[in-house]
Amino acid sequence: MEKVYIKTNCMENSARIEKEVRAELADEGFEILDGYDKKECGLIVCIGGDGTFLNLIHELDFPDAPIIGINTGHLGFFQEIDPSQTRDFLENYRKGNYQEQVISAVDIFITSNGRRYRETGLNEVVVKGTVGCNIHLNMSIGGSFIEKFSGDGILVATPAGSTAYNYSLGGSIVDPKLRLLQVTPLAPLNTVAYRSFTSSLMLPAGSALGLVPEDSPAPDIHIEFDGFSADYHNVTEMKVKLSRKSVSLLRLETYDFWSKVKSKFL
Ligand code: NAP
Ligand code: MN
Repeated sequence: MEKVYIKTNCMENSARIEKEVRAELADEGFEILDGYDKKECGLIVCIGGDGTFLNLIHELDFPDAPIIGINTGHLGFFQEIDPSQTRDFLENYRKGNYQEQVISAVDIFITSNGRRYRETGLNEVVVKGTVGCNIHLNMSIGGSFIEKFSGDGILVATPAGSTAYNYSLGGSIVDPKLRLLQVTPLAPLNTVAYRSFTSSLMLPAGSALGLVPEDSPAPDIHIEFDGFSADYHNVTEMKVKLSRKSVSLLRLETYDFWSKVKSKFL
């Protein structure tokens, strides 16, 4: 019997939908796990919006089991189906009629007080300085110095995250079939005093972005990833790379990335 783990957000309508989903899963012969178990779990059902999905993958540290998202009223870019499609989906899942979308995350390694730390984002990682202050970062690609960045910060988005914060900053929408990282500046200064690229830069998978604070060590560096954040002190260096961590999303056979973009954005 296939074992399923369910994650639901705290919205009232999500709880109601979870009840229905539980009944449908039982009818279709699935066993529902009380807690996530890496060895046992064959399928994860995520009920909520994109925020719920991002919380889930961080809570379970990028689980191996494939995830089907049921959208309960938010944007739901990661969430593939509406509650009314659950039974249909489960039948198709049983028959193997679905697509699997593997999404790679992005890692940032931070050297703080001489120790190396890592944060991971499925959408993006963002580097900012002290609140209200410009940050000055020496940026290198593949070990070669490119520019001294000045502005609010630097965001590095995965293709899956290109439609989130990255898009609000004027970054490009990337088909998740491409393996690349998009480096998008946040309010870059571009004057005779400071020169920074104002557009996004696309880096191939395998390429590393290096960021060294101009005044190193930087007392306060603020890192954001998928709606979470962490503060680091006395930072001497940061490196951003495509992560080994990934998640597998289940999509309907009819799923098409650009149709989804059109339906959610236009
Ligand atoms: P949130 O404030 O609810 O997120 C903002 C919006 O982004 C929500 O509508 C969310 O969808 C949507 N979203 C999340 N991932 C997406 C993706 N890959 N493609 C398209 N839209 C996406 O916070 P949250 O739900 O916890 O999400 C965290 C994300 O918010 C971060 O990873 C970051 O990308 C984004 N964010 C955006 C801005 C901005 O645009 N100015 C600022 C900070 C953070 P749901 O409504 O379904 O949750
Ligand atoms: Mn949200």
